[in-house]
Amino acid sequence: MTDRKDELAANLAKVEERIAAACAAAGRAREEVTLIVVTKTYPASDVRVLSELGVRHVAENRDQDAAPKAVECSDLPLIWHFVGQLQTNKVRSVVGYADLVQSVDRSKLVTALSKEAVRAGREVGCLIQVALDAGEGGRGERGGVAPGGIGELADRVAAAEGLRLDGLMTVAPLTGEYAGRELAAFERMMDLSTDLRRAHPAATMVSAGMSADLEQAVAAGATHVRVGTAVLGVRPRLR
Ligand SMILES: *Cc1c(COP(=O)(O)O)cnc(C)c1O
Repeated sequence: MTDRKDELAANLAKVEERIAAACAAAGRAREEVTLIVVTKTYPASDVRVLSELGVRHVAENRDQDAAPKAVECSDLPLIWHFVGQLQTNKVRSVVGYADLVQSVDRSKLVTALSKEAVRAGREVGCLIQVALDAGEGGRGERGGVAPGGIGELADRVAAAEGLRLDGLMTVAPLTGEYAGRELAAFERMMDLSTDLRRAHPAATMVSAGMSADLEQAVAAGATHVRVGTAVLGVRPRLR
């Protein structure tokens, strides 16, 4: 193996151990949690190595980086998640490679995603991004809709051609009542998911937890964790 492959294999093994331990501690089966590796800022060659090591889900947050990478890796059996704030003028490009968009947080975006999904003849899975620190009716600084806005947005996604409502996504808030309380934040997400599933029983995904707080997410009941740094290393700073 190359040095990089060794390094990624070792990091993946450590993350796998953490997820398995968190599942065991929570009395959950390991299969209940899916690892998504966030490959943003890292090259397509790393994505290829991760695929060789058995990774099936990768995530990106900037279309400019993701689009060429997805093209270079189009021969690999990967599921691509888009997790970044998404401008409507990037939607056509993102729909070209993303199987799921986890950052759906406004109706304008739903309209644009639906239009491009239909145009491309694709079905795009959508997660509503929730900002637990947004004021009611507002949006989070890093995107996301306030909890009170989930229902309406979910109904729009469910009714939109070309889109599939898969569940909810969040990033643990740095401000507000949940700052520093990751477990409480993720438990609140599970309550919001229960509410959502009353109207949309198939929307079972809860994407929560990153390198620093995946244990809390698994403890709360998350179905998907998004891990970047712990697998690929500390990212070089962007600009
Ligand atoms: C970068 C990113 C992650 C991964 O964060 P790490 O701390 O590197 O594990 C997860 N989710 C989103 C939305 C991200 O942008």
